[in-house]
Amino acid sequence: MQMGSFSDARDSSHRAAPFRLGRRHRAMNLLNLTPNDAERSIAVWVAERGEPPYRLRQIFPRLWTHPAADWTGVTELPRALIDDLTTSAPICRLQLQTRQTSTDGTVKFLWRLHDGLAVESVWIPEGRRRTLCISSQAGCAFGCVFCATGRMGFQRHLDPWEITGQVRELLLDPEFGKPTNVVFMGMGEPLHNWDAVDKALTILNDPHGFGIGARHITVSTVGIVPKLARLAARPEQFRLAISLHAAVSERRAAIMPVEKKYPIGKLMEALRAFARRITFEYVLIKGANDSVRDADELAKIATPLGALVNILPLHPGGAAGLTPVAAGPTRQFARRLKELGVNVTVRRSRGLDISAACGQLRTETDLAASLPSTTVTSSSN
Ligand code: SF4
Repeated sequence: MQMGSFSDARDSSHRAAPFRLGRRHRAMNLLNLTPNDAERSIAVWVAERGEPPYRLRQIFPRLWTHPAADWTGVTELPRALIDDLTTSAPICRLQLQTRQTSTDGTVKFLWRLHDGLAVESVWIPEGRRRTLCISSQAGCAFGCVFCATGRMGFQRHLDPWEITGQVRELLLDPEFGKPTNVVFMGMGEPLHNWDAVDKALTILNDPHGFGIGARHITVSTVGIVPKLARLAARPEQFRLAISLHAAVSERRAAIMPVEKKYPIGKLMEALRAFARRITFEYVLIKGANDSVRDADELAKIATPLGALVNILPLHPGGAAGLTPVAAGPTRQFARRLKELGVNVTVRRSRGLDISAACGQLRTETDLAASLPSTTVTSSSN
């Protein structure tokens, strides 16, 4: 019997976390577990090896609260233990493929995954706030017309560790550190990958994980109604952003195919059960959703929910033939909403020069396929 081996866990699994030990040795990805399950798993492993219980306090924090790049750097552990951990529970990392810095300070990271696919994260500094926009899928199945990721099509779901790994990698980089805010607004539809995102939310928020407050974590979704109920059932006050982009069903269906499956009426029903702050994201597209009637219909659904409306400019990267709305009419649209009692903000573009603005995460991923995996490009400014 091989003593003290993590067992029964598959690297890619994000089902209920096992922590019993067995005969067969199989490497476990502890970063794919919730902090509670990881702690129990390590405690059992330590006990089975006959190690003193304090080893748990040396190993466990190196997952998230004081992350280690790999076990060999955890020098307070004896060599034999480091070797066993490296074999039994290696620390899985995302590989940085490229990094680009915008003239406005936004930084875009392209991470290479173990199977050769790639995803992007965007670091957005603003005053004391450091927001990290993370991806939950490689590609996306939802095909919103304004979105470059949607044009890629769906590649695969990310595992919990690949989602939270985007935060972990920056914690390991002294130039960045811990973000104050995390938003699921990168590649993919987070509620389409609910099981992994559910676990990732726990890892991000748990004090033994990254300890980021729930009100500083935003899940942005097109509105997959059954999964919204699952998110609403969580006790933490995670923020919710709805990619709305039109308040009239036929108008929305022309922009977002998901409207046919989960029409706006059903979405609003689900949102009424959501007892926390909601934001509507609204990319203004000329002729598609920018009329006075569009504003009036938007006000009708935003006001009773007390929702904040974020008006976003249209960025290049989506389907051909879409036209952005100029600054003047954008202000008029926002003014109309304000007159109707809606809390509204007009967001400026961030990271446009590096294709890191909302809806643009695609180009560098495609490019990545042709780059050597160790390439790191620096700032474009
Ligand atoms: S906006 Fe979100 S859901 Fe829509 S295609 Fe883009 S990534 Fe997918």
